[in-house]
Amino acid sequence: LRRRSTVIKVLDALAERYGIPKPRHRSDPLDSLVATILSQNTSDVNSHRAFSDLKEAYPDWDGVLAATDDRIADAIKRGGLANQKSARIRSILGAIKADRGELSLKWLTGLPPDQAHQYLLSFPGVGNKTAGCVLLFAMGMPAFPVDTHIFRVTKRLGWLPEKADADKAHNLLSGLIPSNRYYEAHLNLIAQGRALCRPRNPACDQCPAINWCGFENPKRKSV
Ligand code: SF4
Repeated sequence: LRRRSTVIKVLDALAERYGIPKPRHRSDPLDSLVATILSQNTSDVNSHRAFSDLKEAYPDWDGVLAATDDRIADAIKRGGLANQKSARIRSILGAIKADRGELSLKWLTGLPPDQAHQYLLSFPGVGNKTAGCVLLFAMGMPAFPVDTHIFRVTKRLGWLPEKADADKAHNLLSGLIPSNRYYEAHLNLIAQGRALCRPRNPACDQCPAINWCGFENPKRKSV
């Protein structure tokens, strides 16, 4: 497995190619949690459509909590897995209301990141990736969510053992990547996975990280 100094060299090389992403405008943490649940197992386009359809049908979260699962499923159907996601969203809203008396997660910003992360993990259907996205994007907290691109790219780079699962990847990568570079690393590793380190036929001959990569690509012989 790679040392942190190697990881930093790769992050620097990716930053040179893809740039240093500017922090996004922060969003409401509960909006972000629901939006991230809607993004599970679907494309960005479909999940954005489902979120805006839901907001149009129910402008506030109390309205969603008071609605039936069927009606919510109907509102979010463009995002796929509507029945599963509607039940999940209502169950999370119910848990927050029971715990806090109001439908808001803004109070989480006052907790240490680890505690905020653990609180989010207590909800059904919320794993390290979903919790990490809410912390990183909505709350600007240090978290390193691992999506399918990051999982593939970091395995090829040799940052993870071959048999690592998603939870192990989350723990190992969170320790390996400097926390002040989580945001940049998350976005640039995804950019790398989309542009060059694709699932099939990765373009190793154009890759800025090739000098530090352990992936055996037959095409690399000509590099
Ligand atoms: S050298 Fe190839 S396998 Fe390694 S990170 Fe680059 S594109 Fe991916």
